[in-house]
Amino acid sequence: MEKQQIDFSDTQIAFAGKSDKALKETAWLFSMMNQPFLVKWGSKLAMKAVEWNLPFAHQVVKNTIFKQFCGGTTLLDSLPNIEHLGHFQVHSILDYGAEAKSSETDFNWTMNEALRAIDFAARHKIPFVVIKISGLARFELLEKMQSGNEWTEAEQKEYFNASKRADAICHTARDKGIMILIDAEESWIQETIDKMVNILMARYNKDKAVVFNTLQMYRNDGLKQLQAAFQLSQAQNYILGVKLVRGAYMEKERNRAEELDYPSPINPDKATTDKMFDDALLFCLERGKKMAIMNASHNVASNLLQADWMDSHQIPKNHPHYWFAQLYGMSDNITFHLAANGYNVAKYVVYGSVQDVTPYLIRRAQENTAVTGDMSREYRFIQKELQRRGL
Ligand SMILES: Cc1cc2nc3c(=O)[nH]c(=O)nc-3n(C[C@H](O)[C@H](O)[C@H](O)COP(=O)(O)OP(=O)(O)OC[C@H]3O[C@@H](n4cnc5c(N)ncnc54)[C@H](O)[C@@H]3O)c2cc1C
Repeated sequence: MEKQQIDFSDTQIAFAGKSDKALKETAWLFSMMNQPFLVKWGSKLAMKAVEWNLPFAHQVVKNTIFKQFCGGTTLLDSLPNIEHLGHFQVHSILDYGAEAKSSETDFNWTMNEALRAIDFAARHKIPFVVIKISGLARFELLEKMQSGNEWTEAEQKEYFNASKRADAICHTARDKGIMILIDAEESWIQETIDKMVNILMARYNKDKAVVFNTLQMYRNDGLKQLQAAFQLSQAQNYILGVKLVRGAYMEKERNRAEELDYPSPINPDKATTDKMFDDALLFCLERGKKMAIMNASHNVASNLLQADWMDSHQIPKNHPHYWFAQLYGMSDNITFHLAANGYNVAKYVVYGSVQDVTPYLIRRAQENTAVTGDMSREYRFIQKELQRRGL
């Protein structure tokens, strides 16, 4: 069978869903984000302005960066954007964007929000809901569980409550036919998360992949972790669900390792991470009968690797064990091409109040800032499409 190479740089398909006006607005936003100075100070200022409830702050954020990277303030508010994606055969992953919560009341609230999202997903043919375990339990608790220090009775109770919340979410998801992605976080809480998620997968992934754990390939033990997770799933007879990422906390990881004087868990360079990601991806693709894979990346080569591999192995493009995912508002060139070619592809659709999602928005702005003086990847594509349309 002849190999089919998708041309991700063809911007006509990538931006087919954007009107000229919307494209110009996006171009303006990315040109702003392309200026490191502006992002550095602008994001701090925006954060404070939103926090202090300054007049117009919410509106300005909402009409610019929020509009680009978020689905809406609530599930219902996000529905038109979800339907717009659906029109192009792009699926959605519901992601409630509130972060850094700390009380039991907050954690119960987050659990209830996830349950609402599952119900909403079931009613609107949305396949995935994503959660963070640190949204269901105190960060310090997760850290203590991993540290090996003795737990108090109160801590054990707290951990039990957190496990119950995660279980309620996965149980409801299984009953309603929705898949749950569990995000990967900092390495000093990730072991606790992995243990919890492995138990959930053993419980709910007997017949199909309901729960997916996330593995980060910027970690020097990333591939080993994947192999171990696969072995465990085989030994315990469940279908492993894996969302594969490179990893989002590189600087934080390196800084902490230096401060506390332990070897950095992160690969020495980008090339090592890229190779590990692609090796891990092949490991998963080859085991697609026994596990489900979500390739969560904006990297063109890693997306092409999966698309080509599936074609050359004659895997149906809509096979339920093979997924791709990108973030809403980013790498539309990858998402829309994959969808147009019939692959299973989904966007993280983050929703929440402007206040709740501001930390998420700042990360997106930083990610799209020119670091080396070049235009960001996204901005280059938008410029290309503007030129193609003669705008
Ligand atoms: C749908 C989706 C879900 C995600 N979920 C999570 C999640 O649950 N947890 C999480 O941590 N992240 C998550 N991410 C973010 C992800 O980990 C990456 O930070 C981001 O996608 C950029 O990586 P990339 O594969 O898109 O490609 P690229 O842009 O090619 O790679 C950038 C990444 O390479 C790695 N890298 C860069 N420089 C170096 C270096 N010098 N040395 C070693 N490694 C380097 C870093 O991980 C960096 O983020 C998610 C991303 C997507 C698209």
